Order: sequence, then C-alpha cells, then structure tokens
Amino acid sequence: MVPALRYLVGACGRARGGFAGGFPGACGSASGRPRPLCGGGRSASTSSFDIVIVGGGIVGLASARALILRHPSLSIGVLEKEKDLAVHQTGHNSGVIHSGIYYKPESLKAKLCVQGAALLYEYCQQKGISYKRCGKLIVAVEQEEIPRLQALYERGLQNGVQGLRLIQQEDIKKKEPYCRGLMAIDCPHTGIVDYRQVALSFAQDFQEAGGSVLTNFEVKDIEMAKESPSRSIDAE
Ligand SMILES: Cc1cc2nc3c(=O)[nH]c(=O)nc-3n(C[C@H](O)[C@H](O)[C@H](O)COP(=O)(O)OP(=O)(O)OC[C@H]3O[C@@H](n4cnc5c(N)ncnc54)[C@H](O)[C@@H]3O)c2cc1C
Repeated sequence: MVPALRYLVGACGRARGGFAGGFPGACGSASGRPRPLCGGGRSASTSSFDIVIVGGGIVGLASARALILRHPSLSIGVLEKEKDLAVHQTGHNSGVIHSGIYYKPESLKAKLCVQGAALLYEYCQQKGISYKRCGKLIVAVEQEEIPRLQALYERGLQNGVQGLRLIQQEDIKKKEPYCRGLMAIDCPHTGIVDYRQVALSFAQDFQEAGGSVLTNFEVKDIEMAKESPSRSIDAE
C-alpha cells in the first residue's frame, strides 16, 4: 500500500480527492478546475504530481532537489503552508555548519554530518553563497572536564572530522584572546552560513529542473490509498 494524499487546502482552494497515476498535489479552485500553481515549473498547469513533499524548509527543499535531479522525468511538487519558504526552523537556527564531532561513530548522523558539511561548503562555493569557515573551540575550563574533552577528540577522529587538534592554554589564548581554558579542541572546519539562503537556492535549483513550489498551501489531510498507481519511477 502506498500513501495517497488528499489536500484540504486553506488559501488555495478546496479538497481534492482521487487521481490517476500520481498524487493529487495542486490546489483546486472553487469550481474544481485546476488553477495555475504558485512558483511555476514544468508542472505548473497540472493538478497532480508523481511526488509531493510537504514543507518548504531545508529538509523538504533538499529532498525535492535531490529527487528531481535523480528522476527528471517525474513531476514533483513542494507544498508550503506559509507564503514564503524556509521561514520556520530553517530561517531561525544558529547557522552553524557542524563538523560532526559529537555523533556516535559509525552512526548515520556522524557519517551524514561529516559528508554533509563538506558538500555544503562545496555547494556554497559553487553558488556564491556567503559562508565563513571560522572554526570552533570546544573548551575544558575545569580539570575534571579534560578526560571528556579528550574522549570527544577521539570521537571526532573516528568520525573522520578533518583538522582536529587538541590545544593547550597558550594556543587557546592565541586563537581567542578572550577565552580562558585549560585545554581545547580546535575544530577548524566548523563554519557559519545563512541556511535560509541555502534553502532558497535549493528551491531555485528544484524549479529550474522543472519542479513546482506551491506556497500558501497547507496540507490538512492525508489518506492512504488502497492501490498504488500502476506506473513506477523507472517506467518512464
Ligand atoms: C534553536 C535551534 C538551533 C539550531 N541550530 C542549528 C545549526 O546551527 N545548524 C544546523 O545545521 N541545524 C541547526 N538546527 C536544526 C535545524 O534548524 C533543523 O534541523 C532544520 O531547520 C529543520 O528543517 P526542516 O525543513 O525540517 O524544518 P522547517 O524549516 O521548520 O520547515 C518545515 C516547513 O514545513 C511547513 N509545514 C509544516 N506543516 C505544514 C503543512 N501541514 N502543510 C504545508 N507545509 C507545512 C512549515 O511551514 C515549514 O516551512 C537548530 C535547531 C534549533 C531548534
């Protein structure tokens, strides 16, 4: 059984139900006729999609971008309830490009964080998105914190975080004159970026590849279909 979606839309129109060969993604007008979708793209005049992604934050937009680049023949839509993209968590975080030091070695989080940080720097470079690889110091200020700091350093090495160094008081002061500590991990690959800008760039890539972004489109209901559509991704 695959999920089928029925949208009870707010700003966009009324509920839509059954479909053939795709997920009903677009909002309907009061008359039931499909209306042009916000944001355009290849599917701008259709009212159904092969795939829809709910939520135009960085996760939804990155997923949509990756999907359409891998499967350009599919029609894909992103549905976002706000009038703008990435205005919730994505637009209100600390903007840190994490190096991957904290996660459990061999975990998916550790692997994806290390790999993701490298890919993000590369992407920002390609697209001209401002970022700063400012680095980070993780500091032990009490003697009893040193074993934990050393364990964290070992974990970072196991995770493949590049450039890690354990540094002592003097070097801490050289790097951060106002920072006092006994020992620190110097993490040179940690950085900062405006994640909303990154998300908007993902949205642009997605639309340029033919995807549709529908804003002011809140998903209020999802139904499970009894049968999947007959065609498969690879059939096209
Ligand atoms: C305080 C804080 C600081 C953080 N700092 C960092 C950091 O420095 N670095 C880092 O990498 N990560 C950080 N994170 C984590 C990061 O911000 C999130 O993992 C990321 O933004 C999640 O993105 P998202 O797309 O899942 O969520 P969101 O950006 O919230 O996107 C979800 C979208 O779904 C839409 N939506 C919800 N319901 C519906 C619906 N029914 N129909 C249509 N649309 C809907 C929302 O409007 C929203 O736009 C931080 C998190 C917090 C809480």
